[in-house]
Amino acid sequence: MKKGTKLYSILNQKCPRCHEGDLFEERNPYKLSKIFDMPAECPKCGQPYSLEPSFYYGAMYVNYGLTVGLGIAVFIAMLVLGEEWQLHEYLIAIIGAILITMPLNFRLGRSIWINMFVKYKGVSVEN
Ligand SMILES: [Zn+2]
Repeated sequence: MKKGTKLYSILNQKCPRCHEGDLFEERNPYKLSKIFDMPAECPKCGQPYSLEPSFYYGAMYVNYGLTVGLGIAVFIAMLVLGEEWQLHEYLIAIIGAILITMPLNFRLGRSIWINMFVKYKGVSVEN
């Protein structure tokens, strides 16, 4: 994927400003003990990762949207598969999908959130 697009920064979890530095200290979102760990600023360009106190509260809304979207996607996928599912089977599939992708969604939410506020400025940015 091309550097310089928001999607590149979001999916690769890179600094939204330079697309070089990692947004999270641990690349694997399923290492749950490190899931919240972010550097205070980008190691490459110095972009602060927390723009104001409690900056990532807003990411919860993004995360909520992603979670609802996933639930709807699983529901539609089950409808398309055409079996006669029982209510509890829908619930198990949707809740299971949400639980399995929770760490991924959490990080995507933060990544999307900071990308809403910080623009890409290229690799050779000054502080
Ligand atoms: Zn950076």
